[in-house]
Amino acid sequence: MRIVQKYGGTSVGSLERIEAVADRVAKTVQAGNECAVVVSAMGKTTDQLVELAKGLTNKPDARELDALLSTGEQVSAALLSMALHKRNITAKSYTGWQAGIETEAIHGTARMTNVRTEFLEQALKDGIVPVVTGFQGIAGDSVTTLGRGGSDTTAVVIAAALDADVCEIYTDVTGVFTTDPRTVPNARKIKSLQHEEMLELATLGAQVLHPRAVENAKKFSVRLVVKSSFSEEEGTEIVADLEGLELQKPVTGIATEKSVARIAVVGVPVNRHGLAKMFSKLAEERVNVDVIVQSVVKERVVDVSFTVQEQDVDEALAVVEGLRTELGFEDVIKESGLAKISIVGAGMISNPGVAGEMFEILASADVTIKMVSTSEIKVSCIIPASQLATAVSSVHSAFLEGVLSGSK
Ligand code: ADP
Ligand code: ASP
Ligand code: MG
Repeated sequence: MRIVQKYGGTSVGSLERIEAVADRVAKTVQAGNECAVVVSAMGKTTDQLVELAKGLTNKPDARELDALLSTGEQVSAALLSMALHKRNITAKSYTGWQAGIETEAIHGTARMTNVRTEFLEQALKDGIVPVVTGFQGIAGDSVTTLGRGGSDTTAVVIAAALDADVCEIYTDVTGVFTTDPRTVPNARKIKSLQHEEMLELATLGAQVLHPRAVENAKKFSVRLVVKSSFSEEEGTEIVADLEGLELQKPVTGIATEKSVARIAVVGVPVNRHGLAKMFSKLAEERVNVDVIVQSVVKERVVDVSFTVQEQDVDEALAVVEGLRTELGFEDVIKESGLAKISIVGAGMISNPGVAGEMFEILASADVTIKMVSTSEIKVSCIIPASQLATAVSSVHSAFLEGVLSGSK
């Protein structure tokens, strides 16, 4: 078999961990497989590199920030290759550009555009284990990075380019759980879930997989498995279809996001293309807007509220304030200290009423719902951050442990 294995930050967090990873890779190779490895930076290295740059300047140059952040993965790749050599496995480290990973010319969130696989293919043919740095590529003469958590996506795209039989994502939990097992002790491991569900969970805050990794696994039909680098336990497989979807339980998992803030723009006259202008300007300033709710208060006047990440709220407020005269709104209100809880499940399509059940559960737990956003397979509620833990445990216990968890 041809296997791509990706090891995350905690999995390569120390020399001991790197030795353990090398043992696993060696075992895979000795069993007769061809193996390419993708690694993340050791432990919290990327965070530390960000802090290092911030110590120097508040607005580091985007090209140089990427040049700096990409070094974390290079350390792990070189060390893992050395650890493999100790085990008599021939291995070679490759940075993103050495591995032929080309990206858009965007810093911080670049998407991969092409993988020139000749070096990796040659290495595999020669019985060499290529150890590739995750999270990075090249555009022209600049190193680019793919966004935080992006090593998962590197692994999937390399697996697609090398036509691998499977892409194994090794992390610090034993698979994808019904919710973050570090915050909810009752969380259960999910044996398999659909691409769409995993994509929603990842986008809505489940850190375990980078959303673009799931997107690419679906697009290129890469077999994707999440498992632990600390144990031999069977992991979670992300699949195209589940058998008997109609009989499936309505909710597969819960994702949460902290650090949400809301901006409410009150009394906006609708006759001036004002809203379009406001959201275009926010996008221009690279403020990521999430949930948007608009309600008509009286004829030709609307209230609009939207959520952003806490870290972007002052920037968002400045953008809206800057348009005060042009938009002619009455007031703008900022609210911090919010969170988002989302339930996700492909089974919702055939189980109407799930949103109502969620509102009921939250109401019974005295959780205040501030905003709601839904799609075919998810319901998200914006709530006070102080009520998040209560909300998650109530919703988890009702939908994933209790009476609402069975198929209907
Ligand atoms: P890595 O460094 O291996 O990429 P991450 O920290 O990015 O690991 O992702 C793994 C973490 O994701 C886990 O430690 C866990 O706390 C968190 N997580 C959040 N939601 C889930 C979930 N539904 N299932 C499993 N892990 C989750
Ligand atoms: N090291 C990068 C990060 O911490 C990429 C990754 O781990 O996937 O975001
Ligand atoms: Mg990760």
